[in-house]
Amino acid sequence: MFKGLLITQKDKLCEASVVELDDDQLPDGDVLVDVSYSTLNYKDALAITGKGRVVRSFPMVPGIDLVGQINHSDSTEFSKGDWVLLNGFGVGEGHWGGLAEKARLKSDWLIPLPKGIEPKQAMAIGTAGYTAMLSVLALEKQGVRPDSGDILVTGANGGVGSFAIRLLHRLGYRVVASTGRMEQTSYLESLGASQCIDRASLSEAGKPLQKERWAGVIDCVGSHTLANACASTKYGGVVTACGLAQGMDFPGSVAPFILRGVRLIGIDSVMRPKADRIEAWQRLSELLCPEDYETISTEISLESVVETAHKLLDGKVRGRVLVRLS
Ligand code: NAP
Repeated sequence: MFKGLLITQKDKLCEASVVELDDDQLPDGDVLVDVSYSTLNYKDALAITGKGRVVRSFPMVPGIDLVGQINHSDSTEFSKGDWVLLNGFGVGEGHWGGLAEKARLKSDWLIPLPKGIEPKQAMAIGTAGYTAMLSVLALEKQGVRPDSGDILVTGANGGVGSFAIRLLHRLGYRVVASTGRMEQTSYLESLGASQCIDRASLSEAGKPLQKERWAGVIDCVGSHTLANACASTKYGGVVTACGLAQGMDFPGSVAPFILRGVRLIGIDSVMRPKADRIEAWQRLSELLCPEDYETISTEISLESVVETAHKLLDGKVRGRVLVRLS
């Protein structure tokens, strides 16, 4: 028997609680992993609270991230005792995920834990840090350099935002952080933000073309914020879109794209090919230092996950939440 967080559904209402589970209940897969740490992402919080349509079948163990050691393997790629890492691939949505002491998975979804990153550090990064890295890589690949100009990061206090600020700062970019929590300015500055702006200045409907301010944008919130970010991006600038904390809509115009050549790049972490994952994790291991994990993350127990999920959706959590398992 082992402990796990299980989401059940009755009369269309979801309930999540920590229960004892049996190996026989685990879904199919060619590897069994003893999970050391998982995380609590925005998507996990939507699944656990039932506030978003994330879970595709019930009962479900949530948790889109996990790190652990192979307990049993029918795959030629991994052997018992190997440390492995998983982000996404529908785990915690359609296949039981990381918020349990054991997980049975497809080996294709796993990558080896990168050298230089401890298991706990990997989960301090989690999907949020990996998505921040994918966003930074997209800016680099589109030719945005530190001397191109300011980079706007929206949803700055969140997991993706916090890591995006730290990574951009390490690479020498000047970062402007947009936040609804101006009282967290000193935290955002400690990550490397040169300036903080109130997200209210971006969150209402704006003009299709605005003053040119950003060489690049990492947007985590969507909706009017994304539309205004595009409208205020400089000629030839690049905007990455990964999130929907404000909304899934995109109430913008084509003006920035056809009159300023602005490029809008979508960032998906879930189905990302293995080679891109390995590249992103390799860069994370090169760019981050031990103190980054301490600054950005908080550790909680499995028993505290449900309460913390509500706080996260209420915008009361800063940075990353990692969950200790076995
Ligand atoms: P998070 O930790 O909950 O952070 C979201 C942040 O957005 C909050 O801390 C808050 O920052 C800001 N925010 C919240 N509500 C807002 C609102 N109504 N209007 C404007 N800003 C708001 O979430 P996360 O893990 O960083 O993820 C951020 C987004 O990216 C989520 O939508 C998530 O689903 C998405 N995501 C997508 C991928 C992908 O593969 N595309 C991967 C990971 C995450 P401030 O308090 O600083 O304003």
